[in-house]
Amino acid sequence: MFVPQRKQTVRVQVGNAVIGGGHPVAVQSMTNTDTADVASTTAQVAELYQAGSELVRITVNTTEAAAAVPEIRRRLNDRGLQVPLIGDFHYNGHLLLRGVPGCAEALDKYRINPGNVGKGSNHDKNFATMIECAKDHQKPVRIGVNAGSLDQELLSQLMEANARSAAPQDATAIFLEAMVQSALRSAAAAEELGLRKDQIVLSCKISKVQELVRVYRALANRTDHALHLGLTEAGMGMKGIVGSSAGLSILMQEGIGDTIRVSLTPEPGSSRTQEVRVAQQILQAMDIRPFLPQVTACPGCGRTTSSYFQELSQQVEKFLHARMPEWKRTKPQAASLQVAVMGCVVNGPGESKAANLGISLPGTGELPRAPVYEDGVQVCTLQGPAMATDFLARIEAYVARMA
Ligand code: SF4
Repeated sequence: MFVPQRKQTVRVQVGNAVIGGGHPVAVQSMTNTDTADVASTTAQVAELYQAGSELVRITVNTTEAAAAVPEIRRRLNDRGLQVPLIGDFHYNGHLLLRGVPGCAEALDKYRINPGNVGKGSNHDKNFATMIECAKDHQKPVRIGVNAGSLDQELLSQLMEANARSAAPQDATAIFLEAMVQSALRSAAAAEELGLRKDQIVLSCKISKVQELVRVYRALANRTDHALHLGLTEAGMGMKGIVGSSAGLSILMQEGIGDTIRVSLTPEPGSSRTQEVRVAQQILQAMDIRPFLPQVTACPGCGRTTSSYFQELSQQVEKFLHARMPEWKRTKPQAASLQVAVMGCVVNGPGESKAANLGISLPGTGELPRAPVYEDGVQVCTLQGPAMATDFLARIEAYVARMA
């Protein structure tokens, strides 16, 4: 397992989850249900949590939504789901947190967007009200700056100062600086109001990968607050997955980021849990945190005799996914298992030996037999219609022996 030189940040307790302080990078997600709809929101929070989201954020935008939060908490507790709940507040968070104390108490963390807490003197007053609520209820907050809702007064001040400067910087540099300053100034203001540093998480989310990297490097250089990392509005499908993977991987390789969210736009009808699986897969591919056994499969080529090896790879993947919930309880070390399913003798034996278990299927012109390797040693040869079943049985037996 690769252990990047993690940037030292302050540990923040959020319900039963921990963000920062060297704790493993936490996966989080957000619902897209109407929070006032208690049944749908409870169901989706449960689905996300059971998929592996260690914290779940819900929108709190109306009095009805705020009033629903204690009941959502109660129903989750009744199901034994101690998932930390984060309330996402914009524009009226000060009113909702003060006006619905049951909501303020039921949530485990508040997300405050300093660009959306009011203008002029109201900004400071509304922000202070939210921080007072966090203090009263002993809750942490995330000060979450977003490029799309950046504090325009601060941006104008910095743009004007830049224009007057002898060596003005480009507009993007000033925009990113405004994001960092917005986060740092808000954190300082929260601490002046009495919130402890271990109650504050910061984020500066933006939708372009290179700008995300620049803004988080700057932020991480200037604070030891715990950092929530994510490419905002990442988009749909492959674009969102690739963009998030690129941005988050660069930063985590540098030890930046204590919790991540992948902000995918779900395709119509698809499960919201995809964003959780992508976040886990990024952490796993980076060798930062194991979640599921991994299958190494070759892409196939002209030496592949049929689609059998693709089918076997898929069968192995499905088997590992299906077995992991039980292994998580009985054999948690199975999460780091590596299984290879290879298409021919060219790379088959090599990759199979490098994995915990591997099978090298016969390519064009090879004898119809598949050697199986365990911990680098050939243990048997499989052939015939029972090949898949036999290989899955060997995986099950291997996991049972894992110490
Ligand atoms: S292992 Fe064999 S079948 Fe798979 S890609 Fe390489 S050469 Fe092709």
